[in-house]
Amino acid sequence: METELNRCKRCGQCMSACPVYQTTFREVDVARGKLALLECVKEGTLRWSSRFEEILSRCLLCGACAQVCANRVQTTLMIQSGRQWFFAAGKKPKSRRTVLRNVRKGHLPAKVLLKGGALLQALVCKKIPETSGLHLRFPLSFFTERHTVPPIAWTPFLDDFRPRPDVSAEGPRIGFFVGCGANYLFPEMAWALVRILRQIGGTLFIPRDQVCCGLPAFVSGDTKTARKLARKNIEVFASLKLDAILTVCASCGSHLKALASLFADDPSSCDAAASMAQKHMDAMAFLVDHLGLEAYLKTLHSGEAPGSTGTLRVAYHDPCHLRIGQGITQAPRRLLTAVPGVQLVEAPHPGQCCGHGGDFNLFHFSLSMKILDRRMQDLEKVKPDRIVTGCTGCLLQFAEGIGRRGLAGRIKVCHPLVLVERAIAPCPIPAQSRKNLPVFQAEDTDPAQ
Ligand code: SF4
Ligand code: SF4
Repeated sequence: METELNRCKRCGQCMSACPVYQTTFREVDVARGKLALLECVKEGTLRWSSRFEEILSRCLLCGACAQVCANRVQTTLMIQSGRQWFFAAGKKPKSRRTVLRNVRKGHLPAKVLLKGGALLQALVCKKIPETSGLHLRFPLSFFTERHTVPPIAWTPFLDDFRPRPDVSAEGPRIGFFVGCGANYLFPEMAWALVRILRQIGGTLFIPRDQVCCGLPAFVSGDTKTARKLARKNIEVFASLKLDAILTVCASCGSHLKALASLFADDPSSCDAAASMAQKHMDAMAFLVDHLGLEAYLKTLHSGEAPGSTGTLRVAYHDPCHLRIGQGITQAPRRLLTAVPGVQLVEAPHPGQCCGHGGDFNLFHFSLSMKILDRRMQDLEKVKPDRIVTGCTGCLLQFAEGIGRRGLAGRIKVCHPLVLVERAIAPCPIPAQSRKNLPVFQAEDTDPAQ
């Protein structure tokens, strides 16, 4: 850690990229300020304190600072190390620990609570007036400061999904890591991928006993829980002997891609984690780069937007965990451009963070909203009918942004695959075309099958 901290030359380049600093203009909110404080702690000139813990929590871990840093300082790794120290030392404030424990360990998505939440949703999804007695019942800012609450699915995807009896044993074995967001909040994302693969004659292996990817635990500093969850997923997916593992949520995907770094001091787990990480692919990149779906979509010349009668203006937002975390910006745009009836419109400042940042949104809600407002202003300039993005955190954030700006009747949010699936749903891919989709060519099949 010390060497890494020494590499920061205090040049300030990271100030130009940091969404938090660009909102507050406070030195402690940019990577340079946080690293300087960490260095003081290392040198013993500053003591750890709850104020310092608060400063470290004011970071989206978006990675934009590391991307522009000429000295290649691993800024997010340093900030994350500080958070881990606080967690290990038991120094997180009690209220924050309680909320995080529930989110991390999956208590929030317990079925009973979720179903209760689905009922409550109708009640609290509009902004609650300050005079309402509901403030007494729902005192958390999580509910009261919001215009929308997370759209909890009545039935989680993994409870609903049934493998088809006609599953083919031939062809590549493609697994699907669903993730909590797609399972509990946006099952239509998961269904879109399943239906696209079914349309083209492919099969997804979706183990029911998969668990949370562990990212919420990891970013809050709870490495022990993050490792426990990772080990479970590694075991479950390794037993299926898959060729690829797809994700539809950029946050889960970026965490899976870096899974080996969780086990730097445990070589056997590290190898297993690296093997799972190597197989991971974002579903959109897989469909474009390995399945050639873009070319097929271009042959559908109906000219009508999926689910509507005219052209749909679609603004794509780059999730930080996809753009920076996985280096993917073109595959979603290529897919969307190929969907008949969709007009892809580029908002100013592509790559600007939406401000969600996982628990950042929970604990720094008003700051998160200021960052969101900036992004919404850019997106509104191109007058979209849909804001589409490949991360459940961003989807939640834009649903809130649309609600707080009174645009619910004009703009909707969805994952790009939902539009792709609607475009190809009425037109099953003919057997002849299927043969031309690279992944299902005979030479690509696993000889072990
Ligand atoms: S983190 Fe990198 S960009 Fe930021 S001040 Fe340090 S050296 Fe400069
Ligand atoms: S990770 Fe993002 S929010 Fe955190 S300091 Fe770097 S640029 Fe700012």
